Amino acid sequence: MTHEFTETALATKFGNFNIRVYADTQGKETIALCTEQLDITAPALVRIHSECMTGDTFGSLHCDCGEQLAESLTQINRSGNGILIYLRQEGRGIGLFEKMKTYALQKKGYDTFEANVLLGHKPDARTYEKAKMVLNDLGVAHIRLLTNNPAKVSEIEKFGIKVIERVPLVVAPNEHNKRYLTTKRDKFNHLLSDANEDNAKK
Ligand SMILES: [Zn+2]
Repeated sequence: MTHEFTETALATKFGNFNIRVYADTQGKETIALCTEQLDITAPALVRIHSECMTGDTFGSLHCDCGEQLAESLTQINRSGNGILIYLRQEGRGIGLFEKMKTYALQKKGYDTFEANVLLGHKPDARTYEKAKMVLNDLGVAHIRLLTNNPAKVSEIEKFGIKVIERVPLVVAPNEHNKRYLTTKRDKFNHLLSDANEDNAKK
């Protein structure tokens, strides 16, 4: 079953993509940016990125989302066969309003995991059904997944999508997001590359 979407060419500073936007009655459209050529017989390079308005749009240094997004689009464009799936689940699924409350708590010394729990949220409330929907619609059954998060690999594989390879996303930490990255490693089991790890320890 194909879901309702509209598609057009989109030139970006990262390269030329086809943008496919899926309709959503709640204004939370799911977006897929695909390279101009998409060969579903070969494993496409895929990034499944959850929205982070502060990082993606405003360039916040509190997290590494904006840089991960830029790096993903750069690598996907370079691969010549890839997809960026953009999921509208801000703040690990709790929304921007609640996310800002967790930021306020983090200023008081709680880490991102503790702050979510303190506000009555799951540490990570994200789901990936919409990514499955996009991959199924595009006919993509095996992928190379850009992520540092092994849990995301298993979530995607549960949907019957074969992850041939996990491709690490390396971004340089800054003085503001060091703690955030360390929490991702220690409490969310993300794998930091050696470069990230060395910097995070500094
Ligand atoms: Zn972020």
